[in-house]
Amino acid sequence: MNILHAVTAQQQISPKLQKLQQTCKDGKECRTVYSKEELKEKLTPLQYRVTQEKGTERAFSGEYNSLNAEGVYNCVVCGVPIFSSESKFNSKSGWPSFYDVLDKDQIALKQDVSNNMIRTEVTCGNCGAHLGHVFTDGPEPTGTRYCINSAALAFTQSTQSSKHNEEYSEKIKSEL
Ligand SMILES: [Zn+2]
Repeated sequence: MNILHAVTAQQQISPKLQKLQQTCKDGKECRTVYSKEELKEKLTPLQYRVTQEKGTERAFSGEYNSLNAEGVYNCVVCGVPIFSSESKFNSKSGWPSFYDVLDKDQIALKQDVSNNMIRTEVTCGNCGAHLGHVFTDGPEPTGTRYCINSAALAFTQSTQSSKHNEEYSEKIKSEL
C-alpha cells in the first residue's frame, strides 16, 4: 500500500454516509449569504459561535435537547425548515437528535477532520450555517443520527401548521 492509498483509506467515510452525501445539496452554493455584522446583530454569541465558527454547545445544555413538543426545527440563521419533531428521538448524547431531515435538499454534508476525528458535518443548505454532525448509529427506519446543536435551531410549535392544514382542507372542500 503506498502513501496515497493510506491517506485515502484513512479519509474514507462509510458507504451509507457517502450515499447520503450524494443526495444532499452541495454546500458551496448557498442561496442566502449574510454579512458578519448582520449575523452578530441577529444571533446570540452562542448561536454565532455554533453556526458561524462550527462550535458545539455543551452537552445537555441546549434548550431543545429534551423538548418533545410537536413542530418544526428551522435553521436559526435563515429560517429554513430542517427537521420535524416526528423524527426527533432521545439519543442520550446531550444534543437534539433526529433520524431524518425534512428535505435533503435543505442540508449540505461535508467531511470534517477537526479534533482528530473523521466526522460528517451537517450545514444548512441555504445559508451554510453549521448545524452539527451526522452518524450512522441512529434508530430505524433510517439508521441515521443527526446530532444537532440547539443553538443552531429555532423551533416552531405546530399549532400554526395544523391550523394551516385545516384551512387548506376547507379550501379543498369548497373547491370540490
Ligand atoms: Zn440556514
